Amino acid sequence: MDIWFATNNAHKKAELEAVLNTSLKIPSDYGIEFDPEETGKTFLENALLKARELKKIIESKDKSASGSPVIADDSGLCVDALGGRPGIFSARYGSVNGKKLSSSERNNLLLDELKDNPLRSARFVCSMALLLDDDRFFIAQETFEGEIVKSIEFAKGEGGFGYDPVLYIPQLKRTVAQLSAEEKNIYSHRGKAGKHIAALLENIIK
Ligand code: IMP
Repeated sequence: MDIWFATNNAHKKAELEAVLNTSLKIPSDYGIEFDPEETGKTFLENALLKARELKKIIESKDKSASGSPVIADDSGLCVDALGGRPGIFSARYGSVNGKKLSSSERNNLLLDELKDNPLRSARFVCSMALLLDDDRFFIAQETFEGEIVKSIEFAKGEGGFGYDPVLYIPQLKRTVAQLSAEEKNIYSHRGKAGKHIAALLENIIK
């Protein structure tokens, strides 16, 4: 059975494939342009919106794909000292005239914005939608709690992507970027949401 994942982010794809223990089809691998406007006000709304949009596109290209489940996630970093920002705007944090910053530019900007604010608590949030049909879908939302590092000297690690080097997990005594891929999937927002989706897939789709 084909399972589609509504992302063009190869890191997200690899993370979710490891959790679901199956390969996923993503639009860019099939030359499908996929860049829906994320108009939702919450992670949940955006996850469902992305899943619906991709389902529409794949079905318009291939009628036989109508039974294929579509998974989509919307995720981001919520920083308490910033009132939960960048949140659903994490991928676009610091963008000027639609031009996105690189991950390291975004991480620098975040640390600049926080300065020496003692409140460092933050979390990754992931809302994941499994869309089977227009009126048949499931959502799992999970978090990964940590603290934003005190300054750029403490941003460490080569693994993962995005904000991983700047989120320190006290329980693991490392930043997310210092975790192995397997460890990240055990504790992370996406890993935990993906496990709920994996259980649903197993129970629902025979
Ligand atoms: P999305 O593709 O709209 O869900 O954007 C998610 C954005 O949030 C990414 O581009 C990253 O900047 C950030 N993000 C989400 N999950 C992670 C993660 O696991 N590690 C680091 N950054 C993440």
